[in-house]
Amino acid sequence: MRLILLGPPGAGKGTQAQRLVEEYGIPQLSTGDMLRAAVQAGTEVGKRAKAVMDAGELVSDAIVNAIVAERIDQSDCAKGFILDGYPRTLVQADAVEAMLAERGIALDTVIELVVDDKALVGRIVKRAEDAKAAGQPVRKDDNPEVFEERLREYYKKTAPLTGYYYAKGKLKTVDGMASIDAVTAEIGKVLAAAAK
Ligand code: AMP
Repeated sequence: MRLILLGPPGAGKGTQAQRLVEEYGIPQLSTGDMLRAAVQAGTEVGKRAKAVMDAGELVSDAIVNAIVAERIDQSDCAKGFILDGYPRTLVQADAVEAMLAERGIALDTVIELVVDDKALVGRIVKRAEDAKAAGQPVRKDDNPEVFEERLREYYKKTAPLTGYYYAKGKLKTVDGMASIDAVTAEIGKVLAAAAK
């Protein structure tokens, strides 16, 4: 199964992706996680991405497309994968199409998690508080100021992807305001219907 989870920052993509990893035994490919790992490791990509990420802006299409293209060729992706936080621009969406076509594989479904803006900032603040309480590092971009910019970037560059996938007949929407378990159940239904 090859799936894209679409939705604004704080919509619950990462949480739901982790549950899908357990359920379907396919990996979660989070470009945010991969970029944070690159920043942490001090790689060339990490050095170029750090300031952009800290400002809540999007890293260049060329960088993220290259990271994903390399990642999907790894053996654990053979049976499928969940793209979380990627694609985020129309250029990236076209790149996904090309990447999959080159490999003779197709996308199954795109699930958009729909969440009110007002709820999002609260979730981000809570994520930062939870990380702190658990003694984990707090993301530099999980604060209300940077979050505003992340949301602006989302509406400007990522939201148009819903139309892109709708036109391809791939888009399914799920109410991301429901409880975590209810969202998981709804995603399960969408995936079961897509498998028929
Ligand atoms: P995330 O963990 O998905 O919220 O991503 C954190 C940050 O990483 C974003 O605000 C961007 O700066 C960067 N990033 C993650 N995925 C992408 C992507 N697909 N395209 C561009 N930038 C990205």
